[in-house]
Amino acid sequence: MHYDLIIVGSGSVGSSAGYYASRSGLKVLMLDEHTPPHSSGSHHGATRLVRCAYGEGTRYIPLLIRARELWKELNELTKTNIYEKCGVLNTGLGDSSFIDNARRSAEIYGLEIENMTAEDIKKRWNGIQVPGDYVGVFEPDAGFLRSELAVNAYVKLSKEAGAHQIFDCKVSSVTPTENEVVVETEKGIFKGRKALVSAGTWVKDLLPNLPISPVRKVLTWYASDPCYKNIPGFLVNLEQDFFYGFPADENGFKIAKHSGGQNISSRDELTPFGSREGDRTETLNFITNFLPNTGGILEGKTCSYDMSPDEDFIIDTLPGSENVMLVTGLSGHGFKFTSVLGEIAAFFAGDKKPGFDIRPFALNRFNHM
Ligand SMILES: Cc1cc2nc3c(=O)[nH]c(=O)nc-3n(C[C@H](O)[C@H](O)[C@H](O)COP(=O)(O)OP(=O)(O)OC[C@H]3O[C@@H](n4cnc5c(N)ncnc54)[C@H](O)[C@@H]3O)c2cc1C
Repeated sequence: MHYDLIIVGSGSVGSSAGYYASRSGLKVLMLDEHTPPHSSGSHHGATRLVRCAYGEGTRYIPLLIRARELWKELNELTKTNIYEKCGVLNTGLGDSSFIDNARRSAEIYGLEIENMTAEDIKKRWNGIQVPGDYVGVFEPDAGFLRSELAVNAYVKLSKEAGAHQIFDCKVSSVTPTENEVVVETEKGIFKGRKALVSAGTWVKDLLPNLPISPVRKVLTWYASDPCYKNIPGFLVNLEQDFFYGFPADENGFKIAKHSGGQNISSRDELTPFGSREGDRTETLNFITNFLPNTGGILEGKTCSYDMSPDEDFIIDTLPGSENVMLVTGLSGHGFKFTSVLGEIAAFFAGDKKPGFDIRPFALNRFNHM
């Protein structure tokens, strides 16, 4: 069989691409080293924050607005709450670029936000404590995504839409020729008109020249006071660091540190939670100061980020080949975009323009480095 699109890595981005490409009538092959969803990539740990008033920069907003439409559509298609609207509170010093960007993106794109003082935050959500000189940008239409359920749904919907899926099948090479792309795997060689490489953290095994650094990350679930069940998702920008968390549920109160982590160079170095001194204390100071009603640790997990040098995404074609698309360097903030990134990959496979300005995410921005 000759495919229109071969997807190398069918996790967060790849499963979504599988769905939108097969839904548009293309012949799609989805490959993955594991059976997605799974716990060996970047999508496990149950939930991911989703927001549009984006502190990371206004260039992301058109993508985020479309992503949110697609998440809402996925909820309707699956009759589930993969996208849970509980609001997200961004908080930090009023003059930080993160807060400024969140406000500016809301202003430019007409997003609903509420500007808050530290006192407003304390009064509204019992149990959240922020320093007096912090401000808040609360986005009520934001919330979280049930990430493993989302990947599961996209895998299922892709199959129903006609995608061919071969899982537990590691890809060893992706080679563009003049008119097609040859993908070599442990279960055979496949050929397609186009390919998408969405292999997450370990993409450099296939394309060693990409400027991607794998980073080990820790997630911690705490016991909590019931007051944390009724709070929004939150992101706290301390001067040097970022912490974030989710409303507590029956599994506990999930809190993590976005900044930092350990650089790793092989899958073996992604050791389990608690194997490294510091795993259990990473969020301790933060909760003591900001969320004082938090209890003891219930559970922890490790996961990995695929960091680009500037922490912005890479959405481009492979240098020298217009037939291989890369979506990589999602740098720990990509899940909320995966619906629209899948749609963009489907446009690419169908020889259509992406409909968004993806030039800020071009690979050649690193050429001077
Ligand atoms: C702890 C943590 C918290 C996060 N929090 C947020 C958040 O709150 N909000 C947010 O938006 N984002 C968040 N992210 C980031 C987000 O989850 C990732 O950016 C996103 O999941 C990456 O998607 P991906 O498709 O690139 O990777 P994955 O979902 O890991 O998919 C890559 C797939 O490629 C497969 N693969 C790799 N190599 C091969 C090969 N050689 N052959 C075959 N298959 C291969 C893997 O098995 C995997 O299934 C977080 C990430 C982590 C780790």
